[in-house]
Amino acid sequence: MYKLAVIPGDGVGKEVMEEALKVIRVINDRESITLDYEIFDWGSEYYLKYGRMMPDNGQAILQEYDAILFGAIGDSRVPDEVTIWEFIMPIRKNFKQYVNLRPVKLLKGIESPLRLSEEIDFVIFRENTEGEYSDVGGLMFQGDQRELAVQNTIMTRQGIAQLTEYVMKYAKAHHYTKVTNATKSNAITHVMGFWDQVVEEIFANEVLAYEKIYIDALAAYFVERPERFQVVMASNLFGDILSDLGSAIVGGLGMAPSGNINPEKEFPSMFEPVHGSAPDIAGKGIANPLAQIWSVALMLDHLGRKDLHDHVVFAIEQLLLENKTLTPDIGGNATTKDVGNAFIKKLYR
Ligand code: ATP
Ligand code: MG
Repeated sequence: MYKLAVIPGDGVGKEVMEEALKVIRVINDRESITLDYEIFDWGSEYYLKYGRMMPDNGQAILQEYDAILFGAIGDSRVPDEVTIWEFIMPIRKNFKQYVNLRPVKLLKGIESPLRLSEEIDFVIFRENTEGEYSDVGGLMFQGDQRELAVQNTIMTRQGIAQLTEYVMKYAKAHHYTKVTNATKSNAITHVMGFWDQVVEEIFANEVLAYEKIYIDALAAYFVERPERFQVVMASNLFGDILSDLGSAIVGGLGMAPSGNINPEKEFPSMFEPVHGSAPDIAGKGIANPLAQIWSVALMLDHLGRKDLHDHVVFAIEQLLLENKTLTPDIGGNATTKDVGNAFIKKLYR
């Protein structure tokens, strides 16, 4: 039995979460696992009512759960700083979710914009709690004119090492043989030089093949030769960019799941689609729920049920291959609800 905190959030987050919850209920009925979930109405609506994204003891409440399933937040009436620094970042940091896991897998039935794309199947690991996304820095003014801005990148030995250790463990457990390190130590000498050094110290004693590729070339390879990758590890900023690029080559944001993982399982990990609240299509009932459903699969893997993960991903692929009930973003004309219902039929026919 697992306790699951569900935060649908805003916009299409709510719509795709409804379908994910259908999947969770049917898994509870059919499988030897119980995901006992509770829904929290936190996010922008909550903020507009109460002046904060979640209650003051929100973190303490979440801490009691085994995992968090999250939809998306974002609303034009709430500043981005609030959603990022009062909601997403505190959860990542307080729960030490220092690994951001993003599969880049071209499922059968999805057409990639790339020509040579039979075999795209790799995983990106993004450092999730430090690096370039620090709040440390400042501005210098002359009068009221901004003259200079500095934002510090902070990388710690512990931060780099713990990500590398997890990447290695994951690669072995999932039978990968090669890891690619995304870097730019030729230009960002201090910080990325340190990153490379710590990563390479750890890889020195490893059987896994290791390669280091500069981020600019790596971005080009994602498009030209995506089949050469198995596991890619990257800093916070590089990982952010690479994972959007990754999602673009395997069907777009509607097909991109992610996990914010605390490997020690000392705190709950959080699983969410890569996309945001998609205000342009919110309320129309046409958001693709498959990224959210795939995120449920990642959660099941994290909770020790790789068999159920594989079962869910296989069923997504069957739905795609049937090519009948798909949302507009991947070439269909079905609604979010249609896709959720059709998916359940594929999962347990
Ligand atoms: P936010 O501010 O919440 O991050 P955003 O404006 O960045 O929102 P995203 O949600 O990241 O928007 O979406 C970017 C684009 O991808 C939009 O055009 C959106 O319609 C599309 N999109 C995002 N999620 C989905 C989905 N689940 N199904 C279909 N299209 C999607
Ligand atoms: Mg966005």
